[in-house]
Amino acid sequence: MDITHLLEKSMQNHDHLCPRQILGVRIGLAGMKTLGFSEPSAKKQLLVISETDGCFVDGVIAGTGCSVGHRTLRVEDYGKVAATIVDTKTGRAVRVAPRLDIRQQACAYVPDEPRHYFAQMQAYQIMPDEDMLMVQEVALKTHIEQIVSRPGLRVNCDVCGEEIMNEREVRQHGLTLCYTCAHGGYYQSAQDSILHLPQVATL
Ligand SMILES: [Zn+2]
Ligand SMILES: [Zn+2]
Repeated sequence: MDITHLLEKSMQNHDHLCPRQILGVRIGLAGMKTLGFSEPSAKKQLLVISETDGCFVDGVIAGTGCSVGHRTLRVEDYGKVAATIVDTKTGRAVRVAPRLDIRQQACAYVPDEPRHYFAQMQAYQIMPDEDMLMVQEVALKTHIEQIVSRPGLRVNCDVCGEEIMNEREVRQHGLTLCYTCAHGGYYQSAQDSILHLPQVATL
């Protein structure tokens, strides 16, 4: 398997090549292969859930053709180099992660490279899947229809008035709400947070 062209694609987004991008490409390809997709993928049919952002996900994008922009890639940021690849037609999902001993395996593949980083760079391009990856069939806890949702739908929040797309609204007490108005969001008004700062300094 020659993944050079995929690594080049990944590097275009990234300015450099690094072991995590290579892992991203390999993990994406291994997941697709397990689901019966060959490259280039039927990418609209796939959904990738990456467990971290950064270098790894650029490799996953290059390997699978899936992306956030196409709504075929999600990041669940657990800080882990791993991804689940889902066939959205059948619902079949496989999680692919590096084997726990992958770094030792890599050094064994390139014994004359003492620098671990460069040994990994070389080895991750040539090692067979079974020596570097664990592939596990998984079941998603949320229905795939709910994750993907239906694009193009729009409603307005009854509290803040802002538009909500893709069925992300929350129905509560007969109201249609955005996530922030229903559950509180990831931010608060900066005005509020200033009021919550300790006042000691001004006393
Ligand atoms: Zn990198
Ligand atoms: Zn709202």
